[in-house]
Amino acid sequence: MQLLFQDRRKSGQLDLEAVEMAFRSALHQAGAAALEKLLQCAPPAPEDRGRACPCGQIARYRELRSRRILTVLGEVKIMRPWYLCSGCGKGQFPFDTELDVENSDLSPGVRRMLAMAGSEAPFNQGRQQIELLAGLSITTKAVERTAESIGEDLARRERAEVDRAVQLDLPIVIGQPVPILYVEMDGTGIPVVKKETLGRTGKTDGQPAHTREVKIGCVFTQTAWDKEGHPIRDPGSTTYTGAIETADEFGKRIYLEAWNRGWPRAAKKVVIGDGAEWIWNIADTHFPGAIQIVDLYHARQHLWDLARRLHPYDPAGQQQWIDVHKPNLDEGKIEELAGLLRAIDPTTPELAKDIQTKIGYFERNAERMRYPAFRRQHLFVGSGVIEAGCRTVIGQRLKRSGMFWTVRGANNIIALRCCHLNGRFEDYWENRRAA
Ligand SMILES: [Zn+2]
Repeated sequence: MQLLFQDRRKSGQLDLEAVEMAFRSALHQAGAAALEKLLQCAPPAPEDRGRACPCGQIARYRELRSRRILTVLGEVKIMRPWYLCSGCGKGQFPFDTELDVENSDLSPGVRRMLAMAGSEAPFNQGRQQIELLAGLSITTKAVERTAESIGEDLARRERAEVDRAVQLDLPIVIGQPVPILYVEMDGTGIPVVKKETLGRTGKTDGQPAHTREVKIGCVFTQTAWDKEGHPIRDPGSTTYTGAIETADEFGKRIYLEAWNRGWPRAAKKVVIGDGAEWIWNIADTHFPGAIQIVDLYHARQHLWDLARRLHPYDPAGQQQWIDVHKPNLDEGKIEELAGLLRAIDPTTPELAKDIQTKIGYFERNAERMRYPAFRRQHLFVGSGVIEAGCRTVIGQRLKRSGMFWTVRGANNIIALRCCHLNGRFEDYWENRRAA
């Protein structure tokens, strides 16, 4: 410090950043020294030298042993009693359990920082942020390991909760009645390492898959609509959940999320998705009685696909065709639309097949496309919320170039991100030692 100020006297300039960083570092060192003093245990009193061992016998105090841990103030050496069980040969450090550093060289404060950094940004970027913002030197691997292990713990607790939900052991969540509750579901691919796609075929015929699908769902509420009658999502009401898993597993997951958000006491229940079959299977199984809506913009996309097939390289012809057929879709007149599609005289067998596929899509989803009826009830008719969710929850963190995930690693980070975005991380962190 003195050197810095001498410098200043000579040059007449104060480098504030250098000084503030130096002060922080000095305060950290002083803090670490003080903390270290607090973390020196004395040998236990003679009457306190035995501890129950999980094997049923008594572990006896042997000696004080030291160990280094990284805290938010820097590295400190702790000194604590070591107990050894002569029955099973296992040692124990009760003080480590008390400090919550049993399985880690990082203090809880540091672990929390690393988990947040690793959930928000690539691990090496997280490491740089921690270095700059917290003044801690750690490895990229430490960020990765910490974020993933906390995510894993979250994912494990979620699975346990889902299992309980399956046994219909759900506590009724007491709260205000919910006017309109929405469940939206979608799928999005993330790049994975080779071993995760062995034996799976990709979207292009005969090509191996390079991605795995994350199924993601969100739940939100709506109480109001604007002057034009357009729905307004309740601010801050959206929660997310997702994982790379089967539709069956995901169905239970999204059911639990909806349940916790008040599904049983919602006056109106709505499920929105694109045409994917698994979404509607889940809706039928777990959300019977809900209004089912196919995202209008996906449905329009199917019309555009057909317009391009019927009028290749002819944008004006495509637009003209759309102008004729889109009103039927927008007005929910799906039978009329299907009738018009059926009347098309296809020039090739391939085209005939494509038209048939589209007719099937519209007819299968006809009841989910009664848009005027949905609009009259001031409901959303698009799945914009979950699509934005795909970008914020998954895309921004898991779909960056050069990233290849394992299913396990991705699921851990997804669990961490959902927990954080849902505003539940604080609760988890408070309760993590209870279970
Ligand atoms: Zn023992």
